[in-house]
Amino acid sequence: MRALIAIALACLAAAPVSAERAPDLVLTGALSGRDQHTYRELPFDVPKGTSRITVDVDYTGRAEKTTIDLGLLGPGGFEAQDGFRGWSGGGKHRFTVSATDATASYLPGAIEPGRWRILLSIPNIRPASNATFTAKVWLSKDDEGFGPEHGLTAALSSQDRWYRGDLHMHSAHSDGNCTSASGTRKVGCPLFLTVASAARRGLDFIAVSEHNTMSHVSELRELQPYFDTMLLIPAREVTTFEGHANLFGVSRTVDFRLGGKAVPDWNALLADVARAHGVISINHPRRPNDETCMGCGFTPRGPVDMRGFQAIEVVNGRDAQRADSGLPFWEAQLNDGLRITAIGGSDSHDGSDDPRDAYAGAIGTPTTVVHAREQSMEGILDGIRAGHVFVDAEGTRDRLLDVVATTGGARASMGDAIAVPAGAPLHVDVKTAGVTGAVLTVTVDGKRMDQFGKAIPVDGAASFDWPGDGGRHWLRVDVRAPDGGLLVLGNPLYVNH
Ligand SMILES: [Zn+2]
Ligand SMILES: [Zn+2]
Repeated sequence: MRALIAIALACLAAAPVSAERAPDLVLTGALSGRDQHTYRELPFDVPKGTSRITVDVDYTGRAEKTTIDLGLLGPGGFEAQDGFRGWSGGGKHRFTVSATDATASYLPGAIEPGRWRILLSIPNIRPASNATFTAKVWLSKDDEGFGPEHGLTAALSSQDRWYRGDLHMHSAHSDGNCTSASGTRKVGCPLFLTVASAARRGLDFIAVSEHNTMSHVSELRELQPYFDTMLLIPAREVTTFEGHANLFGVSRTVDFRLGGKAVPDWNALLADVARAHGVISINHPRRPNDETCMGCGFTPRGPVDMRGFQAIEVVNGRDAQRADSGLPFWEAQLNDGLRITAIGGSDSHDGSDDPRDAYAGAIGTPTTVVHAREQSMEGILDGIRAGHVFVDAEGTRDRLLDVVATTGGARASMGDAIAVPAGAPLHVDVKTAGVTGAVLTVTVDGKRMDQFGKAIPVDGAASFDWPGDGGRHWLRVDVRAPDGGLLVLGNPLYVNH
């Protein structure tokens, strides 16, 4: 069903914070030999509206074997039912606790306002030693998301380059399953196996997108240090009766019950997501929404302001060559004047390397390739917001599509806007890799260009000129097999937008 542009969103996403912000509290203290084998509590007050507590403790005296172990107590401490919030001993200097997730060693749960305490234990300090400690505390509000200080978002690489990933998969935290260790039955697939499969594929990032829940995020926190070349992006597949949408980078709960009092329609849900600075993408928009695929197709009951979405999953699993891929739906949005990024996702429900059904691909098929300033969550999400993306439909490890357009002194890459005056030619340079024998196709406003209809052979590089008429257009370059099959889907250049 075609959605309409009708209602303006009240809230637009603000620029995300990519640098670690200053702590809200800094607590300091001193220890001497008399503190050997004692506990000390560092109290701090948590105001109402706090949804996450992050703590980082550093201390002096390690050369003299001074050791401080760490834990966390909520209001009420050990006497309260949920007052003990975890213990990491000497294993970690930084940890985070929220309603949805926590660092391994800590317990996720409600952040009650009141007096909390960092619990220090001193298993060793020599009789003549002295030491000082500093505890930084961040108190985060609901919509702060996964700030760098909360972990999980540190950059794995600072290189400005293309990164290859998969933005859609499921594990035992929703309906992903695989064969049990004995080989005798299908069981919920442990997230670890799903992540290990993705790492074997050599991907640079994955988003684990469980249906409506974030119960996997604590485990992602545990896995990320081990999988130190593949970024793990927290996500969920917002799963409604009127379609599915992947929401990336939002840590808090999102009410998905469209039609209810709190979330009357998609516009209300999108406004909520915008407050949390998330990236949200409509999944498999052209799937049926019936007994064969319940809630799958994007079928809003009323008008939707499509500007609330940053992306559309144009290739879902192995559907790139199918009539029910998202391509016509996406092109309709582009023709309506939207700038919205095409992405892909395997929708893998199987932690092994085999796809489960006719729709889902194996992890990494397709691969979404994002040009990002760094290999971090915000780096990848900003690359998606900007449209600096192509989709490798078959999920190879090496196919590349780079499009650079110039006119006069202006320059644009895929996803960028460029002003092209009437009569001025737009010169388009295309670089490819891994597609020898393939052809380029050029699509303008949803139509294949006549003069390029025969397709341009490509093997490394190609270029062409497109005559501008001063009007508003979008122009996209794809790579196709000689039989027309889609190999690489590009994102558009936006002319005079
Ligand atoms: Zn879905
Ligand atoms: Zn899914």
